[in-house]
Amino acid sequence: MNDIILLKQGELVLKGLNRREFEARLVSNLKRSLAPIGEFNIYCMQSTVYAEPQGECDMSAALEAAGTVFGANAALRAAACGKDKDAIYETAIAYLGEQLEEAKSFKVESKRADKNFPMGSIELSQYVGGLLHRRYPHLKPDMHNPDLTVNIEVRELAAYVHGPPSPGAGGLPVGTGGKMAALLSGGIDSPVAVYMMAKRGVKVVPVHFFSHPYTSEMSKEKVLTLAKILGVYCGDLRVRIVPFTHIQEEIRDNCPESLLTVIMRRFMMRITGSIAEAAKCTALVTGENLGQVASQTPEALAVTQQCVSLPVFRPLIAFDKREIVDVARKIGTYETSILPYEDCCTVFTPRRPKTKPRLDDVLEAESRLDADALVEEAMLLVSS
Ligand code: ATP
Ligand code: MG
Repeated sequence: MNDIILLKQGELVLKGLNRREFEARLVSNLKRSLAPIGEFNIYCMQSTVYAEPQGECDMSAALEAAGTVFGANAALRAAACGKDKDAIYETAIAYLGEQLEEAKSFKVESKRADKNFPMGSIELSQYVGGLLHRRYPHLKPDMHNPDLTVNIEVRELAAYVHGPPSPGAGGLPVGTGGKMAALLSGGIDSPVAVYMMAKRGVKVVPVHFFSHPYTSEMSKEKVLTLAKILGVYCGDLRVRIVPFTHIQEEIRDNCPESLLTVIMRRFMMRITGSIAEAAKCTALVTGENLGQVASQTPEALAVTQQCVSLPVFRPLIAFDKREIVDVARKIGTYETSILPYEDCCTVFTPRRPKTKPRLDDVLEAESRLDADALVEEAMLLVSS
């Protein structure tokens, strides 16, 4: 069987002059995704991306991988055949025979992108539908709510027959939205935030703060595992690991306990800001969410980002925890996120954190530290 994967472009079709660039990115991202499965000839034509296997390969795995590539609203597996009405009919039987046996009702829907094809799309649907009905007399034609729709597309190079499409990953191709540095913890939220920004086309540079020996090697491994899972959607993610122990101890020893969390976050912001600038990122991303914890009140968020000049994006700001968990389960990060390893945030948690920290108080507390030197020292030790 001459199987092929088709990706239908989503929002890309709304793009104007830069559409070509978006399509090229979608094609190269699909290439990367399918590379471990086999060799494919991949190209884009008429708002559709085609992936033709160049030899034996696992087409179910290929369809699954195609469904993780942002920029397509549908992914489907189709059988290619010659542009001839009887070849199309034969292909429908060979490809969808089992489903045709099982369905109670059906319809045939044709699209004719190749205007040189001698039949109109309605005529072609009627021709193939008539033959299928004769062959499977139990099938009731139903134009409105059929069990099975047999789709035919007559395109430039060939005709294609397919059943119902599966949903694509949506969004825009990774790489078309620039680069952003994301603060990635081992929790539930920040991996979802990374996924959501990648879905809007952003190439994410993940940054993780690590407080050895207060947090274990296992907690770092957990973050690397999360990055690997996210890599399926986001492209390879190389996590920048920032040693954070010295900074946390300095804050603990010199600043009021109630401000520990907000000051610690500000150091995370400063360092991520420096990494972002070096990596030519246009913004920072966090998994913060309004009202979830004391450090995520509007006042605390404002003080947190005051020390960086790049914009800070928080894609989960208005999500309920349940909604975040639903996405985490869908993308496969949840089970790793709930493994019980400490994060540096939980190492020196104040008993009574200030929910409405005042910037003046925070600046006064920070004046007891040499912030620039601490940031510089951490930057020298960043590894990946
Ligand atoms: P998450 O599930 O993402 O850890 P959370 O609800 O536990 O979120 P916090 O621990 O308050 O929230 O962290 C808020 C945000 O700060 C995280 O979403 C993440 O972006 C960032 N962050 C926290 N800890 C770290 C860390 N160790 N390394 C990098 N970023 C971190
Ligand atoms: Mg956390």
